[in-house]
Amino acid sequence: MIVFNKAEYDRESPNRNIIPLTAELDEQGRLEIGGCRLSHLAKRYGTPLYILDEITLRATCKAYFNALKKFYSALSLPLYASKANSSKLLTALVAEEGFGIDVVSGGELLTALAGKMPASRILLHGNNKSWQELALALDHGATIVVDNSHDLQIISELVGNRKLPVSLMLRFTPNIECHTHEYIRTGKLDSKFGFGPEQIESIFKKLLACSWARITGLHAHIGSQIFELEPHRDLVGIMADAIQLGRSMGHPIVDLNVGGGLGICYVSSDDPPSIQNWVKNIAKAVTVSCERRKLSLPRLICEPGRSVVATAGVTLYTLGSQKHIPGMPSYLSIDGGMSDNPRPITYQSIYTAFLADYPTQKVIQEVILVGKHCESGDVLLKNLYLPKSKSGDILVVFATGAYNISMSSNYNRVPRPASVIVFNGHADLIQLREQPEDLLFYDIVPPRLSSLC
Ligand SMILES: *Cc1c(COP(=O)(O)O)cnc(C)c1O
Repeated sequence: MIVFNKAEYDRESPNRNIIPLTAELDEQGRLEIGGCRLSHLAKRYGTPLYILDEITLRATCKAYFNALKKFYSALSLPLYASKANSSKLLTALVAEEGFGIDVVSGGELLTALAGKMPASRILLHGNNKSWQELALALDHGATIVVDNSHDLQIISELVGNRKLPVSLMLRFTPNIECHTHEYIRTGKLDSKFGFGPEQIESIFKKLLACSWARITGLHAHIGSQIFELEPHRDLVGIMADAIQLGRSMGHPIVDLNVGGGLGICYVSSDDPPSIQNWVKNIAKAVTVSCERRKLSLPRLICEPGRSVVATAGVTLYTLGSQKHIPGMPSYLSIDGGMSDNPRPITYQSIYTAFLADYPTQKVIQEVILVGKHCESGDVLLKNLYLPKSKSGDILVVFATGAYNISMSSNYNRVPRPASVIVFNGHADLIQLREQPEDLLFYDIVPPRLSSLC
């Protein structure tokens, strides 16, 4: 089976594997990650359970960090796009690996600060930042990526009579198409994010008149789960033109932020570029584009999210009921579903899954893996082939580290799962399991109606 053939691993670029670097089979053929047997973890912490493999996470961070150092001759900074999976511990781990972080809300910003990320390495994004979010960023000295004139208006009010100039980045829409799901495409003209290419000159002009604003960087993000290298190469050319224009008008632009977007391997047919090739391609494009325009090299910033955490994460479920309908694959139900992983119902995403204690046993049945939510669309995985299975078996779904916990909900008042980190035979909780009672906490019955309950 291809995913358990270690010879097929890419140890340098974890995003090219479906399973974490530490995945092993024990003597009985049961799956372990980070030296912990998965079925043990399920018993100890319950299911559904999110698991994060520290070694895979750190190896990925090192791959980005080292590739930037190796392939780019000027300054660089990788940022972790924390919307993929935001927590205090993840912030602290990526900070230790030399990353900065990008955040898109006050909540993510508070989490980054709580995880002790230096404010100088925090970037605030968003197409509709609130007054409070912008104030929080300014107070702590995080860099704001200005998405539109609404941002500028609020910032100018917040800055008021302050003498200090505020460093800002500008986000623009480069009008680049890439082949990915339309909900995660962000670089085309019709995108809701950033200034359009036709606005860039007038924005530069307008900002020259603002004594408090210092435009130090340009940003664009073209989409997510991208397997091609060309879109970023094209992007860099367009951004180099914008840097040239901005600098010629007197803006001290030193940062070029090319966003994130590198894809990962969810199923064996996925073939994303390696982190090394992705960085090398961009670094080379920046170098060539700047040389051609006689521009000094900017600091190169990139913002990977998915490719940093997806492969390090897996989710465990317990199998429950089954339904057999003649002439079609059986339904197998798990104890979670669209509340802990909304990607299949949102983007038609597909995954790889195995029985944790029998991953290599001969498959005998095609099943449809369904969640426990009251939606026929709550299908986690179709066309899944499994060995003989029974209620109580533990199932592992791979590559769930990104956009699972961070997009989770309490639909049907299902509590969110616990999260653990594994390393060298140790497992530690990093997020408590919610309890059904917790979900009552925010309910209020007005005094006028308090006789009702
Ligand atoms: C989502 C996002 C990213 C990260 O994208 P990935 O595909 O997860 O790498 C980076 N920058 C911005 C502005 C984003 O919105």
